[in-house]
Amino acid sequence: MSAWKSGQQNVTEDVTSEEYESWISNYCTLFGHDYFVEVSQDFIEDDFNLTGLSSGISHYREALDLILDFEPEPPISTADLPLIEHSAEELYGLIHARFILTKEGLNAMAVKYENGHFGSCSRVNCDSMLLLPIGRYDQAGVETVRLFCPCCCDIYFPSSSRYLNIDGAYFGTTFPGLFINTFKEVERQAAARHQKESFQLKIFGFKLSELSKSGPRMKWLRQFPTTPEEIEEYNKCEYSVATPQDVGKLKGSKEKRAEEKDKDKKDVVDEDVKSTDSKVKADDDDVTMKSPDGSIMSVK
Ligand SMILES: [Zn+2]
Repeated sequence: MSAWKSGQQNVTEDVTSEEYESWISNYCTLFGHDYFVEVSQDFIEDDFNLTGLSSGISHYREALDLILDFEPEPPISTADLPLIEHSAEELYGLIHARFILTKEGLNAMAVKYENGHFGSCSRVNCDSMLLLPIGRYDQAGVETVRLFCPCCCDIYFPSSSRYLNIDGAYFGTTFPGLFINTFKEVERQAAARHQKESFQLKIFGFKLSELSKSGPRMKWLRQFPTTPEEIEEYNKCEYSVATPQDVGKLKGSKEKRAEEKDKDKKDVVDEDVKSTDSKVKADDDDVTMKSPDGSIMSVK
């Protein structure tokens, strides 16, 4: 009891000693703003991090001063204050989208994620997988925030209407992908849930045909690799950017396929030899060299 009382005294002392609360702290504690993390002052003061933001926001300088709790010069008139506050909110949101892609921002979001601040997926087979905020567009004012499930890889509306005013651009399109790639345990949690078979509608115990109107459309979207070969291919695909060698290989295989197609045509349909010939003419000499009996050349 006495410990509780002393604790209470400490709290009241702290509140009185902290006379001012920063704009950022205050903004993040407002109703419906609990998806936001506090962006560090150092991050905002580094001009490099704000590159390109000044052009899209009115009263940029005043809004930035407001976020950083700087005294504006000249003082803001009361008529302009609502406009500048709105600009500050938009600017903070866009800075926030950049901040949560940094190591510090990702760690701050990870704490929120672990504590379930973003909610959990309502799909039964996702087994309450925790969600991550996402914006489908990086431009502000297009769409409000959505939640991404790392298990079913789909997006959802937030469960509460309090988040319907939060712009999706304040979290951006990159965040969930980078988060999952950074914290491998999220990937493992999702993989553990992938073992479950997707739900399929049945009538008297019989599965519905995929061709039926109520059949399991796009079932492959919910399928994940199971065999070692599939897993290897899956791992190769993820986040890889095609190299010039890959492009060369792809081009080579396409040409090869075209050659094989021509070859098949020639073997099967003798009457169409003339038309095949015109195709071969359009190609380079390589094709004619690879023809086994030279019949195409002799037809000319
Ligand atoms: Zn899900």
